[in-house]
Amino acid sequence: MTDQLRVGVLTISDTASLDPASDTSGPALCQLLEAEPRYTVQTRAIVPDDFKTIQKTITAWCDDLNLHLVLSTGGTGFGVRDCTPEAVQPLLEKQTPGITHSIFAKSIQITPFAALSRAVSGIRGQTLIITFPGSPKAVKENFEALSKMLPHAVDLVRGGTGKKVHEKMQGGPRPSGVAADKDTKSGSSHGHGHEHGHGHGGHTCFHHSDREVRSDAASLGLDTPVPRRLRKSPYPLIPMDQAMKAVMDRIVPLSSVEQPVDEALIGAVLDEDVVAVEAVPGYRASILDGYAVIDADGPGQYPVTAVSIAAATSESAVTRLLPGQIARITTGGPVPEGATAVVMVEDTQLIKSSEDGTREEIVEILAKVRRGEAIREIGSDVQVGQTVLKKGQVVSAVGGEIGVLASIGVRKVLVRQRPVVGFLSTGHEVVNHDYALPLKMGQIRDSNRPTLIAATKAAGFHHLDLGIAPDSPEALEAAVRSGLEKCDIVVTTGGVSMGEMDLLKPILEQKIGATIHFGRIMMKPGKPTTFATVPNPNGGQPRLMFGLPGNPVSATVTFHLFVLPALRKLAGYEKYMWPSIQAEITHDVRLDERPEYQRAIVSVTPEGHIQAQSTDKNQMSSRMVTMLGANSLMVLPGRTSKRSSVAAGQKIECLLIGKLV
Ligand code: AMP
Ligand code: MG
Repeated sequence: MTDQLRVGVLTISDTASLDPASDTSGPALCQLLEAEPRYTVQTRAIVPDDFKTIQKTITAWCDDLNLHLVLSTGGTGFGVRDCTPEAVQPLLEKQTPGITHSIFAKSIQITPFAALSRAVSGIRGQTLIITFPGSPKAVKENFEALSKMLPHAVDLVRGGTGKKVHEKMQGGPRPSGVAADKDTKSGSSHGHGHEHGHGHGGHTCFHHSDREVRSDAASLGLDTPVPRRLRKSPYPLIPMDQAMKAVMDRIVPLSSVEQPVDEALIGAVLDEDVVAVEAVPGYRASILDGYAVIDADGPGQYPVTAVSIAAATSESAVTRLLPGQIARITTGGPVPEGATAVVMVEDTQLIKSSEDGTREEIVEILAKVRRGEAIREIGSDVQVGQTVLKKGQVVSAVGGEIGVLASIGVRKVLVRQRPVVGFLSTGHEVVNHDYALPLKMGQIRDSNRPTLIAATKAAGFHHLDLGIAPDSPEALEAAVRSGLEKCDIVVTTGGVSMGEMDLLKPILEQKIGATIHFGRIMMKPGKPTTFATVPNPNGGQPRLMFGLPGNPVSATVTFHLFVLPALRKLAGYEKYMWPSIQAEITHDVRLDERPEYQRAIVSVTPEGHIQAQSTDKNQMSSRMVTMLGANSLMVLPGRTSKRSSVAAGQKIECLLIGKLV
């Protein structure tokens, strides 16, 4: 986000909607806006003079895009089809007659026809809406009448003090901005916006000690009294894929580090090609327990002239085999020079042993063997100079990578650093899960932290337990700050929805200096999931912040959907998203209006079919029991007029977050 005011420009005209080229007022308005760096036209549309379409467009721009300003042109006159004021009026939560009148006052000086404008203006949520007449000339005059005070007005709508604007108008910032902040902390805040500021003249507002709200912050000031809180979230409800992209586009893998080859490597991603400097095997080794022979000798009775067991030995100690001789050998034993094959013990028989019965003297070879049979030549598994592992390879818990590295004597490898993720639970009501006393009314046990920490460890990442922060701005700010100092990612749970105790977003925006990239997602569970980036206190890449909802299932599901892939991307995984498979659903499911991630068990039937079954019919987001046994998240699309359910037997996408059963 930038400090620019995001504007939507809406042309309302039957004619222009049929022939966009005939729209001159919309482009004129855009030109006026774009001439000033503080505005950016985020969206434009041309709609007919149709009540519903006008309402739908403006509602979406306010409620979903959370624009600072919506300016419309057209449909404000006496024409039969003109209905802009009628469509816009019901959308306004607050009237702004001063704006309407000042436009009128300016226009009436220019033309008496201004009396025929029925323009309206007002505030919806955090958006200021102004309807201009349709002529480009009127648009220009109207805009100019307002342009000086518009940024100030928008700032106030967002809960600001208007300080910045006044500073600009007064020609510079007041030097004691920091002191004003301190006033607020000590409780001497006037605790209000700027409602009576105008009467004092430009300067007076500097003496207000309200904390300044960043002009791009969507949250209201922290000291906003409860009755004045927002009743609609100011954060646009964005689709899941957009949210995922917003996260992943901001993640750059961490730098590399050398790590010893041991079990702590599991889950790491190699950041170098590994080239063998040792051959495997390093000597000609027998594959079997049997007798080293010269294949050309063929079956027959031979004296056993040497013994080679799998053990460290010197080359000179292994006697050379001559034609007509055989040597007893064990699996892994060095094959004597001269020998060309090994015959397994089962294909031999003893003819003669020594008199004391301790040694074999003559053994009959019963089978005919090919040259090279049962011998592993030097480097036949791994050759010196061979690239055995490629950069980007994940070290699995299955064993292949550690096994190979160990076999060739690699003691250290360069891997991507793995992120440290900090977990902070929030809420006055939350106590440690192992709290020994009976719970008081209103208290709950923290199930989020143990769950998410366990999942993090199992996935091979490091964590820091940041404990529980009560719902107080100071405590929350301190806990988040301390997490951001030590962790690459901070994950909080709770405090992100619409309650008066949901302080995380304002704290992030107003105290921590975070940029919130999204604060609501069109998904179930997890709608208030929040993602922000914060300048790194130690320099370098920005820190990542996930504000997950408090409900345990929402927290767990969104953790799996967003945080684990984010951790994997930070750790250098090329495939950081969950694998997805199509599974046959075993029962009917009703679709929700939001795309839903139902907890499910995916299994393979004896016939080899992949099936998915919801863990429980009641998938409410507080019911942690719906996570029991779940190895998958079933991806259910949002309900449409054409599709309201998925019938048993249909295929559905499932994300495999656990092991297939
Ligand atoms: P919140 O998002 O803070 O409004 O919390 C939503 C719901 O989740 C409330 O009923 C909380 O009590 C509950 N909740 C919040 N944090 C936790 C937690 N750490 N463990 C279990 N439940 C929680
Ligand atoms: Mg809470």
